[in-house]
Amino acid sequence: TADPVTHPDTAPASDALLARARSVIPGGVNSPVRAFRSVGGTPRFMERAQGPWLWDADGRRYLDLVCSWGPMILGHAHPEVRAAVTEAAAQGFSFGMPTAREVALAEEIVARVEPVEQVRLVSSGTEATMSAIRLARGFTGRSVVVKFAGCYHGHVDALLASAGSGVATFGLPDSPGVPASAAGETVVLPYNDVPALEAAFAERGSEIAAVITEAAAGNMGVVPPAPGFTEALRRLTRAHGALLVSDEVMTGFRCSASGWLGLEGVPEGGAPDLFTFGKVMGGGFPAAAFGGRADVMARLAPDGPVYQAGTLSGNPVASAAGLATLQRCTDEVYQRLDEVSEALAAAVTDAFSRHGIPHRIQWAGSMFSVFFREGQVTGYEDAKDQDTALFGRFFHAMLRRGVHLPPSCFESWFVSAAHDDEAVEHAVRAIGQSAAEIA
Ligand code: PLP
Repeated sequence: TADPVTHPDTAPASDALLARARSVIPGGVNSPVRAFRSVGGTPRFMERAQGPWLWDADGRRYLDLVCSWGPMILGHAHPEVRAAVTEAAAQGFSFGMPTAREVALAEEIVARVEPVEQVRLVSSGTEATMSAIRLARGFTGRSVVVKFAGCYHGHVDALLASAGSGVATFGLPDSPGVPASAAGETVVLPYNDVPALEAAFAERGSEIAAVITEAAAGNMGVVPPAPGFTEALRRLTRAHGALLVSDEVMTGFRCSASGWLGLEGVPEGGAPDLFTFGKVMGGGFPAAAFGGRADVMARLAPDGPVYQAGTLSGNPVASAAGLATLQRCTDEVYQRLDEVSEALAAAVTDAFSRHGIPHRIQWAGSMFSVFFREGQVTGYEDAKDQDTALFGRFFHAMLRRGVHLPPSCFESWFVSAAHDDEAVEHAVRAIGQSAAEIA
């Protein structure tokens, strides 16, 4: 077949927009990884999207393997979700008062994730983890939080230590602006390392309010929990009176209808105490949530003393988008995500093996990532030990062939149920030819 290179490396309309953006927005972007710094070149400014396809400001079409970093599980501008959004918007955008739509979204989440008895809706994953940490501290009366290297939980001060993708992409150790006092209450441990966890609890168990973990890590590339890791988290937190917070912002409603928990099942010893959600549950709009045990959630204002609030929390348009999306996340949708991911991963394995490109593919449900190295990746040190420059060349080879990958090798690839056979064939062809190009 003909080489499907369709796009030149230069993108005049995006260049012009980036120049304009840079004068009014730091770096020209509103979230750092969008800037293409780790792969070089001009980020493509997008104009519209439909199903699995994106069109940039130069009118070029790309197959989308980012899916807005997870939310667009049904594909872009799904007609029924769009109708729900339009209907909600026609009734008003935001009231600052309770609405039926947010109740329905909360009910949908509680119905799907069995251990979640109550949820509070917020507007971003960052807000969800920030609030869950505050609640855990308020509930336990303790202040230390344990997190794992390479896990990202949003840009919360206490959690922005050794935080994976965005920070890894920029090679920053941590962020200036996070006070030592905030970071000092955070203990960072290697992921999947039970002895390190045991040692931390032996030393500071009575000070630990919570352990927060990505249900399956997706921000250092995809690194699922090793067998027994989640059980150890449950056992040690319970033994020491700390809460276990499972961050399902990325995995929630994507790995299965009930997220990673639905795939892995409730760990021996019991479910996590709190969960955080975002991405898919907002259907592309700003909606996120934290929730869990009713006795813990009861400590939140207005019933309890732990304060948490939001002008746009439970926004009716975002709730309508989230609800319409979740209601359409059927078995067939998850089956299609699996088929598409498996076809793409098989194409990578085939092409990279044929051309002698080192690679390792890891999975969490239909989420997968390609590490540009050999050998199992169990944590952040392994993940950092890969050929990021080679990834950059692969990224641009794919972009030229009209496929938009996440612009960092520390990210999961995301697909949607709208990725039809044409989309898969397009990606498979591009993968084969891009591998040949970079070999
Ligand atoms: N937690 C996890 C696991 C995430 O992947 C992310 C974002 O990528 C967040 C939290 C933060 O969510 P948001 O970007 O909506 O603030």
